[in-house]
Amino acid sequence: MPNIPRVVILGAGFGGIAAARTLAATVRSGAVNVTVVDRHASHVFTPLLYEAATGFVEHQQLGTSKLLDSGVTVDVPELIRPWGADFVQSSVEGIDWEKRQVLLHDKEPIAFDYVVIGLGAEVNYFGIAGLQENAYTLKSVRDADRLRQRVHDLLHKREEGTQKRMEIVIGGGGPTGVELAAELTLFLRQHIVKGHLNPEDYNISLVEAQPRLLGALNPKLSAAALSRLKTLGVHVYLDSAMKEAGYQKAVLVPRACKPGETADQLLCDFKKEGQMEIAADMVIWTGGIRGSAALEKLGVVLDARGKRIEVGPTFALPDKKNAFVIGDSALLMNPVTKQPVPWLAQAAVHEGEIVGRTIAARLSGGKDSSYVFPTFPVVVPLGGKYALAVVGGMTFVGFSGWVLKELATLRYFLSIMPFGLALRKWWHGALIYAGND
Ligand SMILES: Cc1cc2nc3c(=O)[nH]c(=O)nc-3n(C[C@H](O)[C@H](O)[C@H](O)COP(=O)(O)OP(=O)(O)OC[C@H]3O[C@@H](n4cnc5c(N)ncnc54)[C@H](O)[C@@H]3O)c2cc1C
Repeated sequence: MPNIPRVVILGAGFGGIAAARTLAATVRSGAVNVTVVDRHASHVFTPLLYEAATGFVEHQQLGTSKLLDSGVTVDVPELIRPWGADFVQSSVEGIDWEKRQVLLHDKEPIAFDYVVIGLGAEVNYFGIAGLQENAYTLKSVRDADRLRQRVHDLLHKREEGTQKRMEIVIGGGGPTGVELAAELTLFLRQHIVKGHLNPEDYNISLVEAQPRLLGALNPKLSAAALSRLKTLGVHVYLDSAMKEAGYQKAVLVPRACKPGETADQLLCDFKKEGQMEIAADMVIWTGGIRGSAALEKLGVVLDARGKRIEVGPTFALPDKKNAFVIGDSALLMNPVTKQPVPWLAQAAVHEGEIVGRTIAARLSGGKDSSYVFPTFPVVVPLGGKYALAVVGGMTFVGFSGWVLKELATLRYFLSIMPFGLALRKWWHGALIYAGND
């Protein structure tokens, strides 16, 4: 057997899949052995997770979860087989840097010549009392299932008369919280239309610690999102930090003032009382993420705040040979804005492609590729066929934004799957999630 270089990619997320696809496209077939490792056999298209969590089905039926989840998941072995890559389903437990082996939970170690770390991120609870124990999250398909099930249970109790008003509190007014608040409202409205619920039977609150929603985006988009949520009847609390998530309640406090700011300038209306308690049959936390806990087992230095691995624009680990970190696991600072590259699927894909090209180049004595800090398009769905989108410097609000959202989904599926399969997958998702619209 000739000595074929072994590339092991940890994580079948946006970054890992992009790295595997790029290697398949740039390296001659049979010239490299690529193995992708993930604890799940599904690649998850997270931008549609909110749809899976709120998909409207009249009554929970056997197979409902499978159907709703199928719009956001892609089978990894099937996806990467045509690229000549192997898949190992297991949990990464560490890396033996001396022996150059990846250590797995229940399988033999895998030897590598090149390793790509793309293990993503997990929810950050920031030590807020009761949050980890009581809150629902939206980071995985399992989270989407749990969230949907809880809403259905509350609805069921409401129909039986054992539940009064349903109080749902979402913490975190970034894209995930805003999308979820809007889509959950439309989901509950379907029940009003069917005569199972009255408008006064539920309340959805969105709690954000900053003075505006979607703080990373242009203030005009924040204002548009706030206006849309108010129209839908979502109760938005700004400048309000979650202090505690307890049994059937959430405690909010005014956020800490910034230098030069007075408490009077804060937008929340409970400054004098110092805190406020709101009813919560269900708290959903979308307020922060941090690097995957698996990174702590890799024997590498993590940044104190986000628990990620700091790298430069080639994504190479500084003190390890032929090792790279991409996506949400990587902390890359933009030297101009002095801000980290955002936790985005688009960034992870771009980074996976760069590392795929670098490995291909190193195999043939070529040069490393580098990140050039592009500006990514923005799409924030806001319930039904309505979204905010910023593409090529132009802003689209409403149905046109929703069309761009659909095109962005199709474009991603086309980038990883053959044409017919991508089109079927996209159409299938569009059909099953149309129930709320
Ligand atoms: C609800 C939601 C909506 C989003 N919407 C958007 C959007 O619209 N646009 C956008 O650009 N970004 C969006 N994002 C962000 C985007 O999902 C992430 O930035 C992106 O997934 C990062 O890609 P990644 O490859 O680094 O990690 P991931 O895609 O998270 O993949 C990491 C992989 O590692 C695996 N893994 C983790 N730990 C282990 C372990 N110990 N062993 C084995 N496998 C492991 C996981 O199973 C996973 O498959 C959204 C995120 C969420 C949660």
